[in-house]
Amino acid sequence: MSGHDEATASRTALRVCPLCEATCGLTLTIEGTKVTGARGDRDDVFSHGFICPKGASFAEVDSDPDRLTGPLVRKNGTLQEATWSEAFDLVAARMRPLIEEYGPHSVGVVLGNPNVHTMAGALYPPVLLSLLRTRSLFTASTVDQMPKHVSSGLLFGDPLAIPVPDLDRTDHLLLLGANPLDSNGSLCTAPDFPGKLKALRRRGGTLVVVDPRRTRTAKLADRHVPIRPGTDALLLAALARVLFEEKLTDPGVLAEQVEGLAEVREAVRDFTPEAVAAACDVPADEIRLLARGLAAAPTAAVYGRVGSSTVEFGTLTNWLVDVLNIITGNLDRPGGALFPLSATAPSPRSAGPGKGFALGRWKSRVGGHPEAKGELPLAALAEEIDTPGEGRVRALIAIAANPVLSAPDGLRLDRALSEHLDFMVSVDPYLNETSLHADVVLPPPPPSQSAHFDFAFNAFAVRNQARYSPPAVPLEDGRMDESEIHARLILAVSGMHGADPSAVDDLVIERALTKAVAEPHSPLHGGDPEHLAAALTGRGGPERRLDLMLRLGPYDLVLEDLLANPHGVDLGPLKPRLPQVLKTRSGKAELLPGPIAADLPRLRRALDERPAAGLVLVGRRHLRSNNSWLHNIPSLNGGSNRCTLQVHPDDAARLGLTDGGGARISAEGGELEVPVEVTDAVRAGVVSLPHGWGHDRAGARMAVAAATPGVNVNQLLDGSRLDPLSGTAVLNGFPVNVTPIS
Ligand code: SF4
Repeated sequence: MSGHDEATASRTALRVCPLCEATCGLTLTIEGTKVTGARGDRDDVFSHGFICPKGASFAEVDSDPDRLTGPLVRKNGTLQEATWSEAFDLVAARMRPLIEEYGPHSVGVVLGNPNVHTMAGALYPPVLLSLLRTRSLFTASTVDQMPKHVSSGLLFGDPLAIPVPDLDRTDHLLLLGANPLDSNGSLCTAPDFPGKLKALRRRGGTLVVVDPRRTRTAKLADRHVPIRPGTDALLLAALARVLFEEKLTDPGVLAEQVEGLAEVREAVRDFTPEAVAAACDVPADEIRLLARGLAAAPTAAVYGRVGSSTVEFGTLTNWLVDVLNIITGNLDRPGGALFPLSATAPSPRSAGPGKGFALGRWKSRVGGHPEAKGELPLAALAEEIDTPGEGRVRALIAIAANPVLSAPDGLRLDRALSEHLDFMVSVDPYLNETSLHADVVLPPPPPSQSAHFDFAFNAFAVRNQARYSPPAVPLEDGRMDESEIHARLILAVSGMHGADPSAVDDLVIERALTKAVAEPHSPLHGGDPEHLAAALTGRGGPERRLDLMLRLGPYDLVLEDLLANPHGVDLGPLKPRLPQVLKTRSGKAELLPGPIAADLPRLRRALDERPAAGLVLVGRRHLRSNNSWLHNIPSLNGGSNRCTLQVHPDDAARLGLTDGGGARISAEGGELEVPVEVTDAVRAGVVSLPHGWGHDRAGARMAVAAATPGVNVNQLLDGSRLDPLSGTAVLNGFPVNVTPIS
């Protein structure tokens, strides 16, 4: 074949889709070195050919002309093209003196949601943080899922021990604040989530959806409960109350694994259906029916997501989700909610007391917010930068993060990044609303040029499996591999600038092996670290680290097994894992942990608070969107994926709003002008505006997104509304004023 033929030859390659948490297997069509199409991989052991519009647009995402092709460095106030050496030299030259003068906490690290969708994003930031030793860590978790981590940490002693609904086998699914027909699921990795819900109904099961909007998922349900936003915790507490009162609790074998059952019974005593009905706007009789349905089902699972997490009582809601799974005997049994066991999870230790989970080991400097899982609230990032005083965040490392759009009060953060930082580096493929403030931008290559293994989402998958995709096409000239970017960044900020980037992987491997050979339960116990390191296979550091993690994992797998099975290795349905999964100090699931008990009076007070007559706001997802990521892709932007304010017809008539007209919406953080969409899909008293929009900042280079910028809903917030236990921003269920504009 001539060089020209090679450059234009057509072939296919497999790739796990990185565009949402479902991790579908894709078959990419490649012409020469360019991805030209994507379809579902029918032989994928997990997704069996499923694909959604986002996955189908992989080629467009991959070749977006607005992707940066090389590093940018700020010179004379403007970002200009530079060499990779110049970029890392500048990072080292500016970061090290700051760290030496002001200490490690003066460096903030912001990790965005796409981090967990790349192999490098999962492997390297933990190394960066362990070497940097900063307490100024902010991630997307505190605008999304931290309540689940905190609730799992308190209940099970491990913030990453998150049970997922056994979608393929359950008889009854109670789903709150989740719209998997549009989101494809979250903290529950399930390709073709919609198909699994349809299959549940086909086999005679029951789907109940609690959501203030009649979403596509709600339309599929046997019962839709259009609850008042932010009151899910009250509803769930009432369900628990009914189960106790009517003697419908049946923890079964779990009774020996939990402590605090009697205390929980007492704790929910005040939350009768009658007491919560007015606040939730759900009739007491309906609440009793929901509880009885949950108890009567042969197997059932309660599952809550973003709409029930990013609320005032987010942690209490997530705690109650698992309390219900436990008291009905559905936790850790097939058909209920089970703990996945991924191929790269450390091999399970024996059951018994663990170290437990601590909250609030330190507090944020300005707001005094307690840390959760080592993180401070993303909502507090701006004040940590712009408030003078000792301990101020002076430099920022933002990795795949766009907090100017994703955090409350983006305008304040925008000013803080522009006026108060001494130095900022962004690892980002785009010059977006946040990275435009950086002094150095380090763009990773398009996804087709990177290898992929889902370290994060396999831990939340509804079936255990492992799939690895090597890069589908070679790295373009001038590009740097994403892992190398991360490794060089780590070296530059940790005083090892100029060392070979493989030193980072070698360090991690050496540390992991030294620890593993000393652990009695490790498959490598008693081995020789040097000999074991030499036996690892792989074409570079990330592959060798994957190989090591597989060898340390529970399935006796090595990298070669994944390379020999490109459609994946099926590791079977989820199995019960208690008590081994518990890491609490008692060695049991602690049903009423102290911080939860201390927060319950706040929920009790909500019983007596009647909602004001005005409107509250909720967000929404769209099938062709994922946070702020995909608005620059022509085929995913437009149509029904629009930034409109959904208003119920009764509210529209009362307020003088018209479909297609304009509205001014305001709250404590600011005001926005938005187009109105009148629809009865949203309940009266509630308006809905999607997040991730507001692509109208000068300096960003995202032409398609800028043409239809939408508005940034988070600008309505000033950052003061947080779930106190998790520091998670209240993005749903807060009061707003809406008035018509011409
Ligand atoms: S559902 Fe998610 S993982 Fe699957 S194709 Fe769509 S975006 Fe990709």
